[in-house]
Amino acid sequence: MPSFGDVPGKGRYRCVICDFEFEIKDGEELELCPLCEGATFEKVD
Ligand SMILES: [Zn+2]
Repeated sequence: MPSFGDVPGKGRYRCVICDFEFEIKDGEELELCPLCEGATFEKVD
């Protein structure tokens, strides 16, 4: 699973703890979730 600090590529991701969704671009790092400070995410298809 993509985690805090990973650079998983552009797309939409969701925090596995609170379901907050966000998008990142190619080359961007995953930040901690702004709502719950969760560090683990899953890609949203
Ligand atoms: Zn969260």
